Amino acid sequence: VARMAGDDDISGTERVTTVCVVGGGPAGIMLGLLLARAGIRVTVLEKHADFFRDFRGDTIHPSTIDLIDQLGLRDEFEAVEQTRVTRLDAVVKGERITPIDFSLLRHGNRHLSLMPQWDFLAMLATAAERLPTFTLLMGAEATGLLRDASALGADDRISGVIATGSDGNPIQIRAELTIAADGRSSVARAASGLAVTEYGVPIDVLWFRMPRPEANPPDTLAYITDTTMMITIPRHDAAHGGYYQTAMLIQKGTFDAVRARGLERFHAAIVDAVPFLAPVVSTLDDWDDVKLLSVQINRLQKWHLPGFLAIGDAAHAMSPAFGVGINYAIQDAVAAANILVPAFRSGGVSEDHLAAIERRRASPTRRMQSLQLRAHAFVGHPGGGANLPSARRLRLLLRVVIPPMRFIIARVIGRGFRPERIEY
Ligand SMILES: Cc1cc2nc3c(=O)[nH]c(=O)nc-3n(C[C@H](O)[C@H](O)[C@H](O)COP(=O)(O)OP(=O)(O)OC[C@H]3O[C@@H](n4cnc5c(N)ncnc54)[C@H](O)[C@@H]3O)c2cc1C
Repeated sequence: VARMAGDDDISGTERVTTVCVVGGGPAGIMLGLLLARAGIRVTVLEKHADFFRDFRGDTIHPSTIDLIDQLGLRDEFEAVEQTRVTRLDAVVKGERITPIDFSLLRHGNRHLSLMPQWDFLAMLATAAERLPTFTLLMGAEATGLLRDASALGADDRISGVIATGSDGNPIQIRAELTIAADGRSSVARAASGLAVTEYGVPIDVLWFRMPRPEANPPDTLAYITDTTMMITIPRHDAAHGGYYQTAMLIQKGTFDAVRARGLERFHAAIVDAVPFLAPVVSTLDDWDDVKLLSVQINRLQKWHLPGFLAIGDAAHAMSPAFGVGINYAIQDAVAAANILVPAFRSGGVSEDHLAAIERRRASPTRRMQSLQLRAHAFVGHPGGGANLPSARRLRLLLRVVIPPMRFIIARVIGRGFRPERIEY
């Protein structure tokens, strides 16, 4: 294999590569790594100057850890500070249950790692940057797509990306294939003109840190009451020590009203759902420390055009329900690489190859999004707050319906509907 960089820097403002990936999130970095290790020239554009951003989701599910093993990156992965979790508890109306138990999985990794996503991405990017055919342009923001007019005069093939580089200057990157992996607000997807179907979501998420009180119960992911649902993700980092990355579900579009009611009412709502946070709740004394994350579920009706493919949240925005969006983004990247690598090796990528990638991933995505929509209906309704069954029905659900399904739940959440293996 000839040694070459992921792109040829022709003039400082014009570059040429084989695959240009817009977005350095889980989908984009993983796809870049997989293509580069197969010797395909790939350039990834990430609009931020680093990966250090909050609210990216922290869950690395068993299927993704299996892929890390396949990539031979286990040592690098273990070197990142993480919390290993085998069972995920939820407290529903005060009753502790363990709906998810990955130890029931029959093969592969049987735990989930909670790890800040910026550390995970930095680990993958470091591995990719060791490969000669990989280029990562940090601070490079795509603003549009390049199109080649066909012989018939129609703008019918996407041939690269227009971006603003980290120095503020424009860049054009010509590519045989352009991948939109730039997440829920994808600029590349918008520029492609592909049609999106939106599935209404009744919730938004408030995202904030809570220090760990001296006395805390076993790690619990979700607290669900009649009025809200909260998530407490145990984290540890040098700047903050041990803390809970905390999320509260609110009815969509009501953050201004929540704020108007004042911090005291907000503290009371937190303690009502998660009583053990009472000693530390007053440390949250500024609304600037509470981030509003808008939740969406949507899906492209078609994921590709000649020279163009969308993957990850750019093709199908996932909600935080079950914490599977990162893993679905990564599974898309693996499925795409499994089809693209042999296609590039045997002469080039046609739209049929891109359609095959969509066919492979559309069904597992659709099934998981439909579970997420059902989960939203369970915890939120348009009048606000939760929509939980009565105490009697809930007990029935928790004690009779869920236990025999725990193996299936572990499989569906831990591995997804169609777990992918890296083939090249
Ligand atoms: C509140 C909330 C919490 C969540 N929690 C979890 C969780 O715990 N676990 C989980 O698995 N999933 C979670 N999800 C879902 C998860 O965040 C997504 O499904 C997942 O991040 C999708 O990965 P991606 O690579 O497709 O896109 P993203 O992670 O969104 O990455 C896209 C990347 O593209 C970059 N980018 C954007 N525009 C441009 C541009 N114009 N040019 C260049 N770069 C650009 C962005 O900076 C970003 O780095 C959560 C979602 C929400 C809304």
